[in-house]
Amino acid sequence: QFPFGRRLPCDIYWHGVSFHDNNIFSGQVNKFPGMMETVRKITLSRAMRTMQDLFPLEYNFYPRSWILPEELPLFVAEVRMLKDRNPSWKPTFIVKPDGGCQGDGIYLIKDPSDIRLTGSIQSRPAVVQEYICKPLLVDKLKFDIRLYVLLKSLEPLEIYIAKDGLSRFCTEPYQEPTLKNLHQVFMHLTNYSLNIHSGNFIHSASVNTGSKRTFSSILCRLSSRGADVKKLWSDIISLVIKTIIALTPELKVYYQSDIPAGKPGPTCFQILGFDILLMKNLKPILLEVNANPSMRIEHEQELSPGVFENVPSPVDEEVKVAVIRDTLRLVDPQKKKRRDTQCLLYPGVADGKLQLKPGKIQVQCGMKDKQHKHHSLKLSLKLKFYLKLGSCQSLEQAPEGSEELPEAALPSLCLKQVFPKYAKQFSYLRLVDRVAALFIRFLGVKGTTKLGPTGFRTFIRNCKLSNSNFSMAAVDILYIDITRRWNSMGIDHKESGMCLQAFVEAFFCLAQKKYKSLPLHDQVASLIELCECRLAALRGKRLVWGCG
Ligand code: ADP
Repeated sequence: QFPFGRRLPCDIYWHGVSFHDNNIFSGQVNKFPGMMETVRKITLSRAMRTMQDLFPLEYNFYPRSWILPEELPLFVAEVRMLKDRNPSWKPTFIVKPDGGCQGDGIYLIKDPSDIRLTGSIQSRPAVVQEYICKPLLVDKLKFDIRLYVLLKSLEPLEIYIAKDGLSRFCTEPYQEPTLKNLHQVFMHLTNYSLNIHSGNFIHSASVNTGSKRTFSSILCRLSSRGADVKKLWSDIISLVIKTIIALTPELKVYYQSDIPAGKPGPTCFQILGFDILLMKNLKPILLEVNANPSMRIEHEQELSPGVFENVPSPVDEEVKVAVIRDTLRLVDPQKKKRRDTQCLLYPGVADGKLQLKPGKIQVQCGMKDKQHKHHSLKLSLKLKFYLKLGSCQSLEQAPEGSEELPEAALPSLCLKQVFPKYAKQFSYLRLVDRVAALFIRFLGVKGTTKLGPTGFRTFIRNCKLSNSNFSMAAVDILYIDITRRWNSMGIDHKESGMCLQAFVEAFFCLAQKKYKSLPLHDQVASLIELCECRLAALRGKRLVWGCG
């Protein structure tokens, strides 16, 4: 609780919308700086495109997308080319305004010329995306999955996935898009906020019927039809890990800017909502990532015309309560303290059978500094449970009447760790992370997210990337060209300089120049290795000089 006027710091800060407070110096905050910006439709599409360029097969779970208005000519040209190559291809596209949610402003088109080029597209950029025409249907209805993912830590990367999620249903039987049905939102868009207004929406007290069901109930049904549910889960886990790997470079730039390394600051964690569509062949497709998923466990019911009441929603309750409860269990600061306490007390225990009764103990440590001044530190520990040292049951066995709820009394965790558990399989995808580490290293002044021209020059010089074919003047031109273009796209005018995505583009450019004959992935990987190697050598040299 944070009562007005409180001065003491908290263990956990639970913010409603975003990370916004830079007066927090300790504890944990439930939002990462920059998460909202990073998962916006355009930023997410850009990050996914970069990964698709490097790893086309691994990232084919994200629909082909273009950013409007800047990529309108590219969109038109690519669709024309694809249609020429394959005349039987009759695509549909979905236009989604950037920063929109709950289906707001979304519409379907059959041809690039149908984009509504009113003033709005200039003032409100959008993503246009290939529409998945053959989704998996249940009861003839299209549905999508909302899965909750806990990003527990960015460095080292720790990801948990909730074992159950929600399935949100359309309210009109699905038909593949035609010019006639393109506008029927209750048929094509699965948003709860839209479908709730349909007369066909069914609020159900059961978790496996109605317009909102648990994902596990769908899995049960699929399994009874003989579907390979294990493979589906493993594909979903892989989609989540790969998506977060695509987001981490940008998040790290925001993180170091808001919470500079070496200064007191909180750590962060965040619950994300992943919206996933299943294709007919059970392939999961990522629709979007929500930085602030709704955690409501009730819905409005109209008792009489104009009179509404909030009533509990059993499906939401079943899924969401477990997500919040387990997030708190995983980030529980008391858990860490309990572990530390146990470690602290161990050395003094001879036979490992010490029992401490609930109450208060005080520990006083004394030490002398270089000037032989004596300092003492008093620690007060309030024990609310028995510690039975030397036994692995120690922390589980709280006595009756204790305020602590023993772990054993709680249901098993619904959040399943997937990273670092599966790190070995996915670590090779973290190439852009390494480019971001180079970027952050040359940012210079703490608190910025953009690289100035001097920083870029220093990067080139320290990595020894300029030569007779690539002069420092050419380096400056590359910097100016790319930076100007990215800044004209008007994403963030607060700071001048080169943003991470512009740096990534420049880096790819340099890699292509240096390793012409290799495929893009190998070009980038080779340049990263070269840069890391040269920077390590430079550091080694500086250390030697320092010693000398
Ligand atoms: P919003 O944030 O406004 O909800 P979404 O990206 O989630 O935007 O899209 C809204 C709905 O549109 C989704 O829930 C889904 O039903 C449908 N949808 C979005 N993208 C696609 C796509 N590429 N193919 C098929 N359906 C899609």
